[in-house]
Amino acid sequence: MIYFDHAATTPMSSAALKTYLSIAQTVYGNPSSIHSAGRLAHKELRQARQTIATAIGVHADQIIFTSGGSEANNLAIKGYALANQSKGKHLITTAIEHHSVLETMDYLATQHGFEVTYLQPVDGNISAQQVKEALRADTILVSIMYVNNETGMILPIEEIATVLADHPARFHVDAVQAIGKLPIQLTNLAVDFLSASAHKFHGPRGVGFLFAADMHFHALIHGGKQEGQRRAGTENLAGIAAMATALTQQLENMESNTKLVQDLKDYLLEQLSSLPHYLNLPKNHLPYVLNVGLPDTLNEQVLMRLDLAGIALSSGSACTSGVIQTSHVLEALYGKKSHRLKESLRISLAESNTKEEIDQLIHQLSLILGV
Ligand SMILES: *Cc1c(COP(=O)(O)O)cnc(C)c1O
Repeated sequence: MIYFDHAATTPMSSAALKTYLSIAQTVYGNPSSIHSAGRLAHKELRQARQTIATAIGVHADQIIFTSGGSEANNLAIKGYALANQSKGKHLITTAIEHHSVLETMDYLATQHGFEVTYLQPVDGNISAQQVKEALRADTILVSIMYVNNETGMILPIEEIATVLADHPARFHVDAVQAIGKLPIQLTNLAVDFLSASAHKFHGPRGVGFLFAADMHFHALIHGGKQEGQRRAGTENLAGIAAMATALTQQLENMESNTKLVQDLKDYLLEQLSSLPHYLNLPKNHLPYVLNVGLPDTLNEQVLMRLDLAGIALSSGSACTSGVIQTSHVLEALYGKKSHRLKESLRISLAESNTKEEIDQLIHQLSLILGV
C-alpha cells in the first residue's frame, strides 16, 4: 500500500514500537502503587515526562498526559474557560481549527454562555493584527493552531504571542501538526497551553500531552490524583514512554526529515504539472501537506479509485462514519460555493515516502483523469 495520509495519522517508528513493547511487557506496575513494581513504573513515567518537557523547554510538572490531541485541546479550552469565567466570557479562535477546538468552543457558547469570535482568513491568512482587533477586556482565552492539518498553513504564533503580551488573556496553541516538524522552544515563546498528539509524530495512537503554564483550570476527568489532579486515571505508561521515544527521534531528525519531505514535495509539484490541477497552497506553509484540486472531478470518487489502486490519501476534511464532509477549512479560505470544496485532495507526506510512490500516484491520477 502507498500511504499519503500522514496528517491523519503516521505509522509508529520502530524505535517507538520497541519502547512500547518493552514497557508493556516488563513494566506492568501501576505508577501509583508503592511496591517496587509500582516504583519502577513511576520512574519510567517520570523519565518520559522529563524527556518531553526538556524537548520543548518547559518544566516536567507542566506536562499533563492525555489520550491525545483532542483531549488536550478540550482540557485547555474547557478547563481554563470554565475555571475562569468570572474574569470574562469572551474567547477567540479561528475558523480553520481542528474540530476538537471548534466544537469545544461551540459547546462553551451554547451550553455555558460564552461568546466566541471565529477569525476568518483574509487573503488566505490569519494575522496577529486580526487577533489584536478582536481582543476585548473580557477576553480570557485565545486558541490558535500552529500548523493547519488540511493545508499545511503555518500561523503567526510568535507574533500573536507578542500581541497578547500586554493582555491578560491566556494563549492556547494546538501544535499537533507542528511538533517534531518546526523547532518549538517555549523558553522563548510566550504560550500558556500547548497541545500535542503522539500518533502525528510516529508515536502510538491514543496518547498525547498538554503543556500548561497556568494551572488554574478544571479537570475534565475526576477520580484520582494522577497528573497533578488534572487528569484522573491510571496512566497509559507504554504509550507515554513510546511517545517520548518518538518525539526524541523526530526532533533529532527534524532538519533532515524536513529536507527529505521538501524534496518530495518539489518532485510532486513537478510531476503534477503533467495533469490539469491547481493548488490550495497558503503563502506560509510546511512541506508535509499539499492540498491539490483537480478541476471538474469529485474528490470522493477520485479517493475511492485511488484506494482501489492501493493509494491512501484523503480530502483533508473530517471523515465521520465513512462519509466525506466538505472541508470547513477550504470553505473558510475560498467560500462556501467554491468548486474547490468538491475537487480538492490532501496529499500528506512523511520522510518515508519515495519518488516512486509519487510516480505511482501521478500515474493513477492520469488514468482517472483520462489524460
Ligand atoms: C489530529 C489532530 C488533532 C487531534 O488529535 P488526536 O490525537 O487524534 O485526538 C487535533 N488537532 C490537529 C491540528 C490535528 O491534526
